[in-house]
Amino acid sequence: MEKLLSKIPEELRSLISKLREQALAQDLKVYLVGGFVRDLILGVKNLDLDIVVEGDGIKFAEDFVKPQEGKIIVHKHFGTATVFLEKIFKVDFSSARKEIYPKPAHLPIVSPGSLKDDLFRRDFTINAMAISLAEGTIVDYFDGQDDLRNKKIRILHDLSFIDDPTRVLRGIRFEQRFNFSIESKTLKLLKEAVKLRMLEKVQPHRTRDDLILALKENNPIGNIIRIKQLVGFKFIHPKLRLFANNFAYLRSLEKEIKWFDKNYPQRRGLDVWLIYLIGLVDSLKPLAIRNICDRFGLRKGEEKRLLGPKQVTRRFIVDLSNPKIKPARIFALLNPLSYETVIALKAKYNNPVLKRHIADFLEIYNDMCIFVSGDDLHCLGLSPGPRYQEIFTLVLNAKLNGEVKNKEEELSLIKELLNKRHPILRGVAPNSKGTLP
Ligand code: ATP
Repeated sequence: MEKLLSKIPEELRSLISKLREQALAQDLKVYLVGGFVRDLILGVKNLDLDIVVEGDGIKFAEDFVKPQEGKIIVHKHFGTATVFLEKIFKVDFSSARKEIYPKPAHLPIVSPGSLKDDLFRRDFTINAMAISLAEGTIVDYFDGQDDLRNKKIRILHDLSFIDDPTRVLRGIRFEQRFNFSIESKTLKLLKEAVKLRMLEKVQPHRTRDDLILALKENNPIGNIIRIKQLVGFKFIHPKLRLFANNFAYLRSLEKEIKWFDKNYPQRRGLDVWLIYLIGLVDSLKPLAIRNICDRFGLRKGEEKRLLGPKQVTRRFIVDLSNPKIKPARIFALLNPLSYETVIALKAKYNNPVLKRHIADFLEIYNDMCIFVSGDDLHCLGLSPGPRYQEIFTLVLNAKLNGEVKNKEEELSLIKELLNKRHPILRGVAPNSKGTLP
């Protein structure tokens, strides 16, 4: 045990020591459980602690956070609390509990229980181990260590997938993440649950969460392939099927995400799961995608990004593929779109000119700004108003097209426009300094 803990970061070890001291002082049986224990044995980095208390987990969490600088969120209804420490660590606390599923695919009825009850309600043996904080020993009622050694995903009882069908997606996720295999009886039961269309009976937001987690994994396409083999995609939409062309698009998305991450690490991070979801639902019509968004309760912004590539017009693609298009037009086409949509377009169209224009947009145009400011316009005798923005856009377009390069040239352009009474400037009121130049 000590040897295992010696591999984790010092701060985490000292956190576990504090938890242990408190458990001993309060004479409570407290355990580290779940994914943290699994990853500790596997030697995989995991900074999220999961604590189970045989007793009042919330009270234990509140006592723990009191002397420290941390934030606590209590979920009274679930008997759990989450403590956030030093921005890095998240510790989930819960009271050991027993679960009974009154109806397949519905949420369980929960009551206080022992550690063994609490471990038995879990998804797979590899996630059902604990470490006793007082004794520093591994508690392994269901041979999770053997399964870790033999690289097996195994459920704890025959009704596991019927009780909670989201475990089908979880099983695939762990299989893909660790390169394990689903043990044969577990696989048989998984297939039976799929045949009974259990996943379609779960509250959609729960399947959504597990689907998103699958798409956030390091190997989302591996997850998608396995979901196709074992489950199909009816739980997402009755008409959704994936063929070779869809997988080619997913591979292309993967390539473009890597390209973006490598070239623009300083930009807003992409919502990678959303890009893979764009690829996943690409064969569906916009209305069907909207239905998925509604059923899954996706946010408006997510829906907009998911539908982004479907909403560009043929004209948009023709323009963006035109080698003679001006930079200002490229900017006007791409700037209103999210990065997720832009990446999806780059992946979808195998046209080198379009791809180059998207790369130019991200590389050059997206960051371009002008030197003139509102103060400069004021000094030129223009009163503040909505036309300022129009003038800035005009100057930016000129700059994108290489027609002006520095502040002097920007100002001359504005003066020239003023002299010629450009339509944008018509009606601009002279300011207090006098008349228009
Ligand atoms: P990850 O490394 O992806 O965070 P994790 O194992 O920590 O995986 P969580 O989703 O954080 O998974 O859940 C924590 C623990 O809760 C799991 O290890 C498992 O023991 C248990 N658990 C989570 N979801 C379920 C479920 N649907 N059914 C049974 N047990 C579950």
